[in-house]
Amino acid sequence: MTVRTRFAPSPTGRLHAGNARVAVFNWAFARHHRGTFILRVEDTDVERNVENSLETILEDLRWLGTLWDEGPEVGGGFGPYRQSERKRGYGEAAGRLVEAGLAYPCYCGVEGAGEPGFRYPGTCRTLTLDERARREREGTRPVTRFNVPDGEIVVRDEVYGTVSFPPAEFGDFVIVRADGRPTYNFAVVVDDIAMRITHVIRGVGHLSNTPRQAVLFDALDAPRPVFAHLPMVLGADRRKLSKREGASSLVLLREAGYPASAVMNYLSLLGWSAPDGKEILTPVELVREVGLERIGASNTVYDPDKLRWVSGRHIAGMPLAELARAVAPFVDPARVPVGRYDLTRAVDVIRGRMTTFAEINDHLSLFLVDRGPELGRLQAALRNDAGAGAVLRAVAGELAALPEWEPRAIGGAIRAAGKEAGARGPALFHPVRRAVTGRKSGPDLGQVLGVYGRDETLERISAALPDGLAQD
Ligand code: GLU
Repeated sequence: MTVRTRFAPSPTGRLHAGNARVAVFNWAFARHHRGTFILRVEDTDVERNVENSLETILEDLRWLGTLWDEGPEVGGGFGPYRQSERKRGYGEAAGRLVEAGLAYPCYCGVEGAGEPGFRYPGTCRTLTLDERARREREGTRPVTRFNVPDGEIVVRDEVYGTVSFPPAEFGDFVIVRADGRPTYNFAVVVDDIAMRITHVIRGVGHLSNTPRQAVLFDALDAPRPVFAHLPMVLGADRRKLSKREGASSLVLLREAGYPASAVMNYLSLLGWSAPDGKEILTPVELVREVGLERIGASNTVYDPDKLRWVSGRHIAGMPLAELARAVAPFVDPARVPVGRYDLTRAVDVIRGRMTTFAEINDHLSLFLVDRGPELGRLQAALRNDAGAGAVLRAVAGELAALPEWEPRAIGGAIRAAGKEAGARGPALFHPVRRAVTGRKSGPDLGQVLGVYGRDETLERISAALPDGLAQD
């Protein structure tokens, strides 16, 4: 059996952690089984559709890396399936059910859809063909109701176990509205059958829809898929996250400079854990480890601090060239004059401290700065500190003679200069750091100077000395 999964967003807004997590599971699970991942847009509820929502969902999924494998061809690639383009299939399926006596037209004029507690008493279930014909002549447009079988409905869920729904919970529900549009549960089932979906993985909010869908699979003579419902994602306030989607909206995470791989990793941990408890997983590792067995049924909490931690680990593990490319668009030239330096080297110096790409400016501005106003103060300080002047001259001498401009060698040269000048520790490194960066602290000095380059380092030391380097 080829595994086929689907992500079925309704275009009612942007993706947030709760629904993006559903995409991640379906994608990873399909990849794990070398199966097929399908994207299906559930846009039949026209009133709820939000303009541009679909575009943003596609953009977010592409960024996240959960690419779908199938769909109508558009521009050399695949578009998503859209329910609004599949109306015929729903009508045909409903017709088959009516013919088989498993569904019937209802002229009562009450749809009852979505009204809690409403249970249709079955008035039209037993209408004769003549009575139906008379109603049609009167011009009443019927809805189509499903003839729900008697008895309780038992659903098997991979996460929540065997769940029974008492018969009293269901009246004969509407599958096609009077205007011909399918209802949500019906469209889902017709599509899941047509798309040969083997595993339905979605949020636990849909568990209550599952019995209706299960009996529709049965009536349409299709095997029920495996159902696996993912636990609810709560915000720190313990309220359902989707209600305040802004907090975890994918676009905000992207703009804040979280790597997509880290977001995917973090989302996978919302309700699931790897067999060995490992929490940092690349997409490849996630695909290898993912499974339905380790999904938990209890609510999970979206924790921005944990996301930051995961993100920091992903950044630390990225190949340097890739990281440099990823941070480049985040560099703010007004804060960091990075254009003059080698960004890759600069990033290497601070990568261990970064948790998002956007932090590049905070970290780089710690050492990659125009000293401007600092300079006068620095010169004054050095004038009063003869020792510092001697240190800087010795350091400049060693650095000028250094065969290769490389962090370890730079550190060694500074220490060698310290021996000449009789200074070590802070008395040695502090004046050099101040002279070059204007700052009192920052990353490893050898690395910092590695970024500035030899010429600029020597120029800066010279500029900091009241009489320059020349005066020796
Ligand atoms: N369209 C539904 C939603 O956005 C998902 C339906 C399903 O996965 O079965 O919540």
